[in-house]
Amino acid sequence: MTHLRVTGGRVLRPGGRVERADIAVDRHEGTIRAVGSPDEVDEAVGGDVDESVGGAAAETLDAAGGIVIPGLVNAHTHVAMTLLRGYADDKPLDPWLREDIWPAEAELTPADVEAGAELGALEMIRSGTTAFADMYFAMDRVADVVDRAGLRARLGHGVVTVGKDEADARADVEESLAVARELDGAADGRIRTAFMPHSLTTVEEEYLREGVAEAREAGVPIHLHANETTDEVDPIVDERGERPIAYAAEVDALGPDDFFAHGVHVDDSEIDRLGDAGTAVVHCPASNMKLASGMAPVRRLREAGVTVALGTDGAASNNDLDVFDEMRDAAMLGKLAADDASAVPAAAAVEMATRAGADALGLPGGRIEAGAAADLAVVDLDAPHLTPVHDPVSHLAYAARGSDVRHTVCDGEVLMRDREVLTLDAEAVQERAAAAASDLVDRVGSA
Ligand SMILES: [Zn+2]
Repeated sequence: MTHLRVTGGRVLRPGGRVERADIAVDRHEGTIRAVGSPDEVDEAVGGDVDESVGGAAAETLDAAGGIVIPGLVNAHTHVAMTLLRGYADDKPLDPWLREDIWPAEAELTPADVEAGAELGALEMIRSGTTAFADMYFAMDRVADVVDRAGLRARLGHGVVTVGKDEADARADVEESLAVARELDGAADGRIRTAFMPHSLTTVEEEYLREGVAEAREAGVPIHLHANETTDEVDPIVDERGERPIAYAAEVDALGPDDFFAHGVHVDDSEIDRLGDAGTAVVHCPASNMKLASGMAPVRRLREAGVTVALGTDGAASNNDLDVFDEMRDAAMLGKLAADDASAVPAAAAVEMATRAGADALGLPGGRIEAGAAADLAVVDLDAPHLTPVHDPVSHLAYAARGSDVRHTVCDGEVLMRDREVLTLDAEAVQERAAAAASDLVDRVGSA
């Protein structure tokens, strides 16, 4: 049985158009074979029958009463931070990192990272996310989880050199480059990698220059946090007399395949520069609001031609990995930032979470059309909070939640069917993560 059919639903097509259609997926290729009427889809799957169920047609996912959307893309997270969900809240970025998050992360073991990543993968599959970008450490463990879970990801080891001696700083850069070289193409090609300096202020210039040069040679993109808070922008302006995006260009970290998280405090010259360079920005509205970092100028970025994707950031500053929340927050905060209710409409938020996300990460997916990657989610619209359906795109941005997702498919494989995750043992994953988190907090307390 080569094919999977997604039947009876409405389908969100490129450009934001919604139409009633069935979808034929080629499971071996992991791609969409056809989108159209049942007859057209019948023709595409030919005589493919499933002998194991008495010769019935290809495996079917029922999308009746729902809308089929491209799998959502969480373009910036630190997935294992699910273990620190609700551990420390209600502080600005700098003291939150120094007083709470970094001391806890210092106690994290590779096994903890694996447990946290598994919990995050489970949460993402259950909320219709099929691809994510992850910056963290023990990335071989994260890669194992991505492989098992059936997701797609761009992974990188986050480098911090400030406060380290030269040997440790250099080892951190080397680790990130090694991860970028060795894990690229893993999980049957579903894993791609990037060189990931944490930010322009937490990695010193000489290491940035060296690491970026080697990443360019290896052909991997750069991902870092940029212009997140004024605390991060001001020292660069004071010390260098230039804005962070100009500095990024100077160290050759501003390329067309690169993607920067946040972009909150960017001025007009930086917005133009990002647009000209083709460097994507990953907007993380919930994290920016929770840490009171500021409001990213999403409308202006989009108008300048910047690819703006959406990210949850880590679960400790969100506090979940539900990209539906991000769509709603991006639309709402974008209006507030522009002082204009039309600034970031529903269709723009949905596009940021799908096509723009895939494009920012340089991963397949983000569109439902023949030949595209079969990364899909079916959102059930049959619920009180989604009734009536005047405009399904409005519902996706403003009213739907991750828990409305009925089925999730990535690379042609069904990861969740009727809300049951097939690739991970949900109960075991939750138990393991809860135990790991509780042990971690005990260790931090006694450290
Ligand atoms: Zn982050």
